[in-house]
Amino acid sequence: MAGRAELTSYEFRKIRARILAESDVCIVCGHGAADAVDHVQPVSKGGAKLDPDNLAPIHGVDGCPTCGRKCNNEKGDKPLASVTRLVTSRDWYAGP
Ligand SMILES: [Zn+2]
Ligand SMILES: [Zn+2]
Repeated sequence: MAGRAELTSYEFRKIRARILAESDVCIVCGHGAADAVDHVQPVSKGGAKLDPDNLAPIHGVDGCPTCGRKCNNEKGDKPLASVTRLVTSRDWYAGP
């Protein structure tokens, strides 16, 4: 499980901290308080492992405090689009 070690590497944690500092809105359920990040395009599907553009906030093992979903579990190894169509479309909230 070499990939496992890389996901907990110092570099990954640094990127994770940066992403969560910018936003903690979960990409799966759209609620705040995300405490993990996940790859938008899974690494196993060719996504970049340490590219901030390929990482987004998501609810980790503790799940979402608002809706209770285990977003990271739900997403698993699937591309984000198959889990949700939300994909940070914040314009939706902007209204007319
Ligand atoms: Zn969530
Ligand atoms: Zn939620």
